Parts: sequence; structure tokens; C-alpha cells
Amino acid sequence: MVTSGKGGAGKTTVCVLIGRALAKLNKKVIALDLDFALNNLDVVAGVEDKIIYDVGDVVEGRCRVKQAIVEVERNFDVIQSGRSFSDRVTGQNVRLLIDGLDRYDYVLCDCPAGLEGGFTRAASAADEAIVVVNPYPSSLRDADKVINLLMQYRLKSVSAVVNRVRGDLVAKGRSLSVEDVETVLSVPVIGVIPDDDVILSENRAEGGSATAIKMLAKFIDRGAGKVYDCESAFKGFFNRLKAKR
Ligand code: ADP
Ligand code: MG
Repeated sequence: MVTSGKGGAGKTTVCVLIGRALAKLNKKVIALDLDFALNNLDVVAGVEDKIIYDVGDVVEGRCRVKQAIVEVERNFDVIQSGRSFSDRVTGQNVRLLIDGLDRYDYVLCDCPAGLEGGFTRAASAADEAIVVVNPYPSSLRDADKVINLLMQYRLKSVSAVVNRVRGDLVAKGRSLSVEDVETVLSVPVIGVIPDDDVILSENRAEGGSATAIKMLAKFIDRGAGKVYDCESAFKGFFNRLKAKR
């Protein structure tokens, strides 16, 4: 499950970017939209025109799983939510759906904001949790609450991805660093993604953010690895400035 607490931290974006990056590593990936109220996985993945059936239809038997699967690109599919009445979708139903998707290497669950029904549904169905956090105190507080709640579920791992990091601000000491985030949350940070206009406008990663996502996908796949260093480019620059003074 990819979760965060408040909306807007980047859950859906990170889900799609991870999906694409794992697919490029030749893993078969499917993302499930479990955000029934503010569903937009299909839009972020660019397949909104292809959606006919959704998670609710599958769980309530109105279609077969196969009919609800939409291909985003090679090795990366999605099942959307929200077109049908989904109140009866429980964590158990979602788990059954996930178990049926056994030809995939990864099932990514895009979670809703908040810590109510949708969160509980995903947390009780998932094996592992990734908490998306922005490097600001308010986002950290949300993530901390989420992590405390997640500890009550039987998850194999809980980790964090720091999204929208401004390397320039971190280098100037005006934004929390990845180390700060890791210290406060007490879970491993498995990925760091820069704040990037391209992601904002096109839901795609390029340049530094593409490298960051690739590193995150490798970390997920191997269970270990390095995270992207958003600061290094700026550190050099500011150190040079200081040296001139
Ligand atoms: P959530 O699913 O957590 O509500 P979204 O994935 O919808 O959040 O992202 C919220 C907004 O932030 C979107 O407009 C998205 O394009 C933008 N966004 C997410 N990650 C980044 C990033 N690394 N850089 C720039 N914009 C981002
Ligand atoms: Mg979302």
C-alpha cells in the first residue's frame, strides 16, 4: 500500500512512477485504485478513456478480474475505482482480489487520504506499506500518525518515501533533510524524489527525478539500496559560493 495521511503528498503520483519504473526492470506490476472517493489513478496513469469496469465491479461480481484490468504500458496495468458503488468493498475482498493477481510481481495499492475506512481496508489487505511524506513539519506529523497506526497491522515492512524534496532549500538549511525525516519517523527511507515541474505537469519523471524513481524501484525490488541525493548539486554550488567569500 502507498499511503500518507493527508491528501496531496504524492501517493498516486508515486504509485504510477514506481509502477512504470518496476515495469522497466521487467517486473509485472498492477496498481489498484483504492481511493474510492477521490479516485484519479487512471488520470495520472493516462488511461482514463479506457476504463469500463472498476474494483467495485470485480469485488461484487459484476465482471471478471480480467475485464477490469487496463494496460498502461508493457508490464504495467491498473484497475480503477469509483465508477460503481463500492461501500461493500472490504479489506478481505481486496485481499482476495490481490491473491488472485498472482501473475504479477507487484500489486500497488493507491490509498485514499485520511485514516478511516479506505485506510483500514488497504492496511488489512496489504503486505507492506510505503508512507509518502513531504519534507515539512505538518506532513511529518501526519506520516508519524500513519506509521503508528500501521504498526497495529500485520505488515512485513513499513517504510517512507520523501517526495517533493527541494535540494536547494535543504542545502541552505531551510528545509528538513532526509536524515531529519528518518530520525523523526523511525522507519527506513527507501526513496527520495525531488520536487519537479515535469512531474507536476505531466506525471512523468525526467532527469534527476527519473534517476530518483529508478533508484527507488531498485530499492523496492532488492530490499536494499541507495536513495537519491537531491542536495549534492546544490551543496557544491553553495560550498563554492562560501569559499569565494
Ligand atoms: P495524493 O495522491 O497523495 O493526493 P497526488 O499524487 O495526486 O497526491 O499529487 C498531488 C499533486 O502534487 C499533483 O498535482 C502532483 O502532480 C504533484 N506532485 C506529486 N509529486 C510531485 C513531485 N515530486 N514534484 C512535483 N509535483 C509533484
Ligand atoms: Mg491520490
